[in-house]
Amino acid sequence: MVNLLVILDGATDPAPSTLEEASTPGLDRLAAEGETDWLDLLDPGVPVGSETAIASLLGWRPDGPVDRALVEAAARGLEPAPGERVWRVDLEHGHRLLVFGQGDSPRVDAAGAMRVWPDGLRPPRILDACTVVVGAAGAATGLARLMGATAVVPPGATGRPGSNLAAKRTAALAAIDARADRVVVHVGGADEAGHAGDRIAKIAVLEQADLEIVAPLAELVRARGGEIQVCADHGCDPATRAHIGGPVPQIRWSRG
Ligand SMILES: [Zn+2]
Repeated sequence: MVNLLVILDGATDPAPSTLEEASTPGLDRLAAEGETDWLDLLDPGVPVGSETAIASLLGWRPDGPVDRALVEAAARGLEPAPGERVWRVDLEHGHRLLVFGQGDSPRVDAAGAMRVWPDGLRPPRILDACTVVVGAAGAATGLARLMGATAVVPPGATGRPGSNLAAKRTAALAAIDARADRVVVHVGGADEAGHAGDRIAKIAVLEQADLEIVAPLAELVRARGGEIQVCADHGCDPATRAHIGGPVPQIRWSRG
């Protein structure tokens, strides 16, 4: 039995939404034949981000901020040495740094605006290798590693518009064939397009995800039996370029 979760990162936004505007026959069919409802992933006061909402989807509901830098480092196979910690530092023009060191805050000599992400909780190791998370090197795969699951970063997976979604589908199929208990596929491009304020690019990512991930994987679940769940982790509004909290829509379809 296949147990599949597809996370469309930052997919929702205010009406008329990009999800409504995008042509998504795969999602439309799942919505017509399955159950749709709302998922409440985060408690009030918990920061709205992938590091918190995807943690909740993977089975750990954080009660405060999650250490995003630790998550990003784990996604790249990096772990701070004893006595050391890691910070995520975002610079202008989309550059992101992981800074390892000691002390309370990193010393980064950078011209222009800089954002140092706050520290937070370390995700607990509550999963095992039979949960497989497919995505770019980022929040979903980093959380997977820290929580004890298997993380698969296929070639060409960037987490941005233009990512190699066919390679993610191939990796998901391999995990299903290897009888993983649960397979999670993360698509990051819609969130990145939202942060860039690019509504057209966001629609294009949603259409590509529907065509290359949702529709073919739904077909597989129809053929073999099992369950497919598709949801956002949080919203991301191209008009404000910011995340949106609150419940996210989900579709569930199952057979057998
Ligand atoms: Zn985001």
